[in-house]
Amino acid sequence: MSVMSRPAPRLVIVVPCYNEEEVFSSCLTELRNSIKEMVQDNLIKKDSFLLFVDDGSCDQTWRCIREACAEGECIQGVKLSRNEGHQAALLAGLHVAGQHSDAVVSIDADLQDDVQAIRRMVKAYCAGYDVVYGVRDSRQTDTWFKRTTAEGFYHLMALMGVKQKFNHADYRLLSSRALKALLNYNERNIYIRGLIPLIGFPSLEVRYDRGVRIAGESKYPLRKMLALALEGITSMTVAPLRLIASLGFLICILSLLAILYILLIKITGHTIAGWSSVVLSIFFMGGVQMLSLGIIGEYIGKIYLETKHRPRFHIESVMENGAEK
Ligand code: UDP
Ligand code: MG
Repeated sequence: MSVMSRPAPRLVIVVPCYNEEEVFSSCLTELRNSIKEMVQDNLIKKDSFLLFVDDGSCDQTWRCIREACAEGECIQGVKLSRNEGHQAALLAGLHVAGQHSDAVVSIDADLQDDVQAIRRMVKAYCAGYDVVYGVRDSRQTDTWFKRTTAEGFYHLMALMGVKQKFNHADYRLLSSRALKALLNYNERNIYIRGLIPLIGFPSLEVRYDRGVRIAGESKYPLRKMLALALEGITSMTVAPLRLIASLGFLICILSLLAILYILLIKITGHTIAGWSSVVLSIFFMGGVQMLSLGIIGEYIGKIYLETKHRPRFHIESVMENGAEK
């Protein structure tokens, strides 16, 4: 793969925030320092900036963002009209950033991802890479439950043929052309980390150790994690539908064999005893059918939502150059 070198970019760092008042000031300080240092080292252009996206928080997050924007020249903010979820908030930030940037980095507000890795991402961009994945080297700070479920999910996705970077979430750099390519995916059910490998372009991994959330609690409770996993599977692959079809086929074959067996023992004069086994298998098959219908229903629901072409987010306010618009 051929890569070319590029001049220092105008970098936008996009930070989705949902009820992050507790971490906001530390996050702002860290990221602002990082931008300042990179400007000093001529790694990025002077007009690079931070873009905070308030995902309909119900705490003081937007007030914090507004105050920061009013003080600092390298800070901008966008407020969504309601809580749309991490993926939609990130997408909104990427849409806004896309109009102003040569490269964009997305990072969570809680500083679990090592801010120092941004420098390495920018260097990779200057070396010609369009997509730079932040990959977690160690996840020891995540709970056992989170690590195990995440691992299981990555393997499940790989089994279903979805190309997804292991141990990579949404900490990454995208060049303007990679971002443009991503924004061309116009689907409503969005799973950004699944789409990135589909856009192609030269890519590189930057590895880092994942830390602990500096304050507050995870905004991804089990319910949201499961919803994201379901979104990931159903928006990236039809493998579950194929599995249902294969399962149906297998059950048909087994039933045919069972019928043959029953006919055989009938002919040889034995009677069939055991109603419970019959009733149990009826219940079991009922369960399989309900589950299958549920999975099919999930996909039909997705089609229904896609055909509506509903907007994925609404921007309520924008803080730009210290003023609210
Ligand atoms: N987030 C968001 N909207 C939501 C949930 C989360 O914008 O509905 C943001 C959150 O503020 C954070 C990022 O998404 O910046 C990742 O969330 P979190 O760190 O709580 O997830 P975890 O690391 O626990 O998986
Ligand atoms: Mg986090």
